[in-house]
Amino acid sequence: MTARERSREEFQRAQSLFPGGVSSPVRAFRAVDGEPPVIVRGSGPYAWDRDGNRYVDLIGAYGPLVLGQSPPKVVRAVRRWLERGLAFGMPTRLESTLGAMVRDAMPAMEMMRFVSSGTEAAMSALRLARAATGRDLVLKFDGCYHGHADGLLVRAGSGVATLGLPGSAGVPEGYAASTLVARYNDVRAVEGTLERYRGQVAAVIVEPVAANMGVVPPAPGYLEGLRDLTRRHGALLIFDEVITGFRVARGGAQERYGVRPDLVCLGKIVGGGMPVGVYGGRRDLMELVAPLGAVYQAGTLSGSPPAMVAGIATLSELQRAGTYERLEEAGAALEAAWREAMSAAGLPVTVNRVGSLLTPFVRGGPVRDYDDARASDLRTFATLHAACLEEGVLLPPSQFEAQFVSLAHGPRTLDEVRHALRRAAGRAVAALAATGGAP
Ligand SMILES: *Cc1c(COP(=O)(O)O)cnc(C)c1O
Repeated sequence: MTARERSREEFQRAQSLFPGGVSSPVRAFRAVDGEPPVIVRGSGPYAWDRDGNRYVDLIGAYGPLVLGQSPPKVVRAVRRWLERGLAFGMPTRLESTLGAMVRDAMPAMEMMRFVSSGTEAAMSALRLARAATGRDLVLKFDGCYHGHADGLLVRAGSGVATLGLPGSAGVPEGYAASTLVARYNDVRAVEGTLERYRGQVAAVIVEPVAANMGVVPPAPGYLEGLRDLTRRHGALLIFDEVITGFRVARGGAQERYGVRPDLVCLGKIVGGGMPVGVYGGRRDLMELVAPLGAVYQAGTLSGSPPAMVAGIATLSELQRAGTYERLEEAGAALEAAWREAMSAAGLPVTVNRVGSLLTPFVRGGPVRDYDDARASDLRTFATLHAACLEEGVLLPPSQFEAQFVSLAHGPRTLDEVRHALRRAAGRAVAALAATGGAP
């Protein structure tokens, strides 16, 4: 690893242009007290920085890169399409092709609308839920993130948690008050809230596998419980599958756990690394969206042709036989590598994993909700993060983010990661001891 001098220079310049030098706050590495390398390119499981250092990439652009960096088939398809035009503001066949692929993977998506981000998808799904039910309140879970729309920035996990903000400045109190918050993985808490606000809750929105407080899988029966309670109380059930869609199974968490929501939000993988979001679900609900119905929602670049092409190429690759078995194996190998490294270094760890999505929490004992996640040793995590960077492994810069492996992370790369994590954990323990913080 050479010194990251050029990265440092460029990041300085960026800081004069952008708050924190970044286009999205987590990228600033503040939660791990570090400084991000400035990236120049990626290929397969690797990314290279401005100083020529190569890293195994476990950030995966925070979710979209399920095929790894610059997958040749996706890049070729987009390049070919670009000759034909960037945007038309008119329908293309591409939207129907990708839409049909989404519905084929997720039968609950009877009808849908393309937008440009997961934030927009969640924001629009909630507007629709309120219109459809004539109710104002929404119930979300402590530590779940659904994008940065005003009413959803309430106890919203990773980015927000990481920065230690209670929610966000600039969100009107009245707006935040229309969002109720309950503990994740606790059906009783939801039941209590729905009883208390009887007839007022439009929707329960949930990450069916939480991934923005670090990965927290749903407890057995939890999603079924939400399905049952929302039905009984006349509230809609919204699965925010922006991370889990096409990740934990082709049909997302709704397939993996066999629970059918009323509305679904997608993003990340469905755009194959380009900006795409989708919301959709029951036809009777989606027919309330303009121009068929009175719920307004629009977007100049919605259904962006090159983004649709990237999505189509990505989902085509995911349809190949054995895809999700391979992702499962890669995830299991990374999990084993973490356990081995932490155990060898004498550090506690709880690894939560669903397929190719995992978080090693630096603590003992189960992590079932946001309070459990927050009891992790954040200082040790930060030290580990820096040590991994030195050993050529790029981790998401927060204890409250998921680590991602892709189809490009084959056995050789994962073996490389195993050795690197082992060295990094040793390095971290030495660094902690040197600064008087031995675990
Ligand atoms: C990333 C994410 C979002 C927001 O998507 P953006 O494209 O960043 O706006 C929403 N919900 C979940 C579960 C996410 O992980």
